[in-house]
Amino acid sequence: MSSTVSHYQLSHKFNPLLTIVFTIIGIFVAIALGIIYSIISYYSPFVIIDIGLVVVMGLTLAYLASFLAKAAKVRNTMVNFFMAFFICLFAYYSSVCGFEVGLFSGDFTDYIKLFFSPFTVVDIMFDEILPYREISITRKSNTSHISGLMLGVVYLIELLVFFYPLIVSFHIDDYYCEDCQAWYKKYQFFSSSNESLETKLSANLTGSYADVLSQTTFYTDTKGIVNQVDQSAGNIDVLEYQYCQCPKCRQKSILTIEKKLLKKDKKEYELKGVSDGFIVQDAYIDNKTDALFEKEI
Ligand SMILES: [Zn+2]
Repeated sequence: MSSTVSHYQLSHKFNPLLTIVFTIIGIFVAIALGIIYSIISYYSPFVIIDIGLVVVMGLTLAYLASFLAKAAKVRNTMVNFFMAFFICLFAYYSSVCGFEVGLFSGDFTDYIKLFFSPFTVVDIMFDEILPYREISITRKSNTSHISGLMLGVVYLIELLVFFYPLIVSFHIDDYYCEDCQAWYKKYQFFSSSNESLETKLSANLTGSYADVLSQTTFYTDTKGIVNQVDQSAGNIDVLEYQYCQCPKCRQKSILTIEKKLLKKDKKEYELKGVSDGFIVQDAYIDNKTDALFEKEI
């Protein structure tokens, strides 16, 4: 048995062929999303729809980029970043083309022609749209107009939201089994906590948590804990366990334990993070601890 706990490290490896294939798939999906975005936004009568639409777009692109990076088995944050970059770029570019064709009452052939003339796209944006376009916002009986510099700021915010997935792409929060070439499966549990349990877990340097946790009851969600405590109680200290197992070899399972707080807000409890909450992070666990969690899944 090893005497010190070892931690999971990203291998930074990636498969070039899979990466290229999934990036190309991502670009095609991004172009389609950009067209849909520009059509809805062109016909949308309310600004609130536009705001909601751009937020949905940012989240969709983030999900798409991370889904495809996982499918391409990327364990390298730089490669992850570039995959996300191309997906965001094409989604944005496609939406701008759609917007410009819509504005100048074009059709799909015009869209394709414009799509392959990036300099024209930029010229139209800077020479025809930014200096002259005006967005009207009607609120009750008042109508305000956005143009010039403010319009530039609005477009810049839209661009930043489109590229929001880049921030997410710098972090790969899944584990990969290099032996089996497969991503680990994640399982989440909760337990109530106390200082003595936390001290014992933090002091453990061997990756063997089975003895400390042998008396702990695990719940798959926080409702189980709330039902166990006196309803007049205030905030509840809890531990959140993330147990990860390779679905193929079931070896070298990984555990993260984070201290959290069930904060009482009127009658409802809400799960909140605490600062410096990590007690165990990305730790390979021994067989005995593995068996303890395996029987919970
Ligand atoms: Zn494995």
